[in-house]
Amino acid sequence: MATSDTIPEPNTDLEQISDVAAELRRTFDGGATRSIEWRDRQLAALGRLVSENADAFVAALQADLGKPTLEALTADLVMVTDSAKAARKSLKKWMAPRRVSTPLQSQPAKSWLQSEPLGVALIISPWNYPVQLLMLPVIGAVAAGNCVVMKPSEVTPHVSALVAELVPRYLDSKCFRVIEGGVAETTALLEQRFDHIFYTGNGAVGRIVMEAAARHLTPVTLELGGKSPCIVDKSANLEVAAKRIAWGKWMNAGQTCIAPDYVLVHEDVEAELVDKLANCVRAFYGEDPRESGDYARIVNSRHIKRLQSLLKESGDVVVGGEVNEDERYFAPTILRNVPPESPVMSDEIFGPILPVLRVRDVDEAIAFVTSRDKPLALYAFTESQEIEAKILERTSSGGAAINATIFQASNPNLPFGGVGPSGTGSYHGKASFDTFSHQKSVLRKPTRFDLKFLYPPYRPAMAKMIRKSLG
Ligand code: NAD
Repeated sequence: MATSDTIPEPNTDLEQISDVAAELRRTFDGGATRSIEWRDRQLAALGRLVSENADAFVAALQADLGKPTLEALTADLVMVTDSAKAARKSLKKWMAPRRVSTPLQSQPAKSWLQSEPLGVALIISPWNYPVQLLMLPVIGAVAAGNCVVMKPSEVTPHVSALVAELVPRYLDSKCFRVIEGGVAETTALLEQRFDHIFYTGNGAVGRIVMEAAARHLTPVTLELGGKSPCIVDKSANLEVAAKRIAWGKWMNAGQTCIAPDYVLVHEDVEAELVDKLANCVRAFYGEDPRESGDYARIVNSRHIKRLQSLLKESGDVVVGGEVNEDERYFAPTILRNVPPESPVMSDEIFGPILPVLRVRDVDEAIAFVTSRDKPLALYAFTESQEIEAKILERTSSGGAAINATIFQASNPNLPFGGVGPSGTGSYHGKASFDTFSHQKSVLRKPTRFDLKFLYPPYRPAMAKMIRKSLG
């Protein structure tokens, strides 16, 4: 684990930020990013940036978050290399104009949608998956032909420093900039006019970003968080449910935006589910998870303290609860008999604490979920199609998975994003390209025919005919 004297300091001059967007816009206006060849070259280079420096990225993720190697490779690096490859493969298809039909009153004409890049995008990313959450939106922005300013999170300084070092070496430096730093640097960036702002992080900063964007009428994508519930019906396969909930919860020590935040379980199977979850903790991480190489660390002491405070007056600790602040270790923790109004049930936990709450039936679980903010993800464990349909129809969430956790985010054909307080807009796969593109509507008319009745002086007979057509 990194010590404080090895933590890299960002070297950003606030003055230099003041016209970064304007500089990149000049490049963009010159047309450098438009061709499919440029986009393809940058996507290939982005893939190489990650694959050729995989060991350095794994080391940086370990220094910042104690990330187990396999989690660093799969959830951060492979996500980026796979997405870059997939974007290169689909680029031609995504960029192709899409013909649409033309109604009779507009005939004769041809109509189509033509994707055009927005211009200069600002991408602000958080610390929990600091490679993936920065580079996946960059892939969309590049595929769509934009210039990009990247603002990695200052909370993961090793990853931020590595990105700042590698981007100028691999990508076209006239079109890409990395600005390191925290609130002061981001505030200076947000004063400038961008053509799109893509922000991932907490909702409080989401509001700051949206307000700043409003001053320039800049469109935003906000990838936020929330308390993602996990409903376990009594028909569920409890053995599998426990494993999948435990895996999704304690990966990256619970610091995952779509981790199951809490469990609502049918009262008849609550004791059995809690037992099985406890067994999973032992099976995954051994008797002392602190010794396990497969269990990540909490990002910093501030978050350790925040998580510790959530344990007060939040039910009974049945597993875990141990904390070692020097090592930034917080044990996988299960809580039972949790009052719905307790601290752990008020804000997103974003850590390894799993409250398990009993419900009488699925209707009570649905009422509980719908009385709170719309979450980023919702998980349902059931073998009943009827219950599955009821939960999907009567709740609203950014995404959902049945008898699974996390996997909905790994399918690039499923756009990823929140709804209401959990976010605005979406990305992944083609949705990323669309997010950073404007769909220009185009209509072309031939000049051989020119209908005279369109032009003044209008004929009364024409008005009569149209009046009749209203029905
Ligand atoms: P963070 O502290 O790294 O902040 C995110 C970014 O916002 C950083 O780049 C930071 O520099 C910038 N920032 C912070 N304060 C700012 C301010 N006052 N003004 C301008 N910019 C500022 O990360 P975080 O917010 O703690 O991330 C955790 C949250 O993000 C959780 O709520 C989680 O659910 C959410 N999240 C969402 C997704 C998603 O895809 N929807 C993914 C990961 C995390």
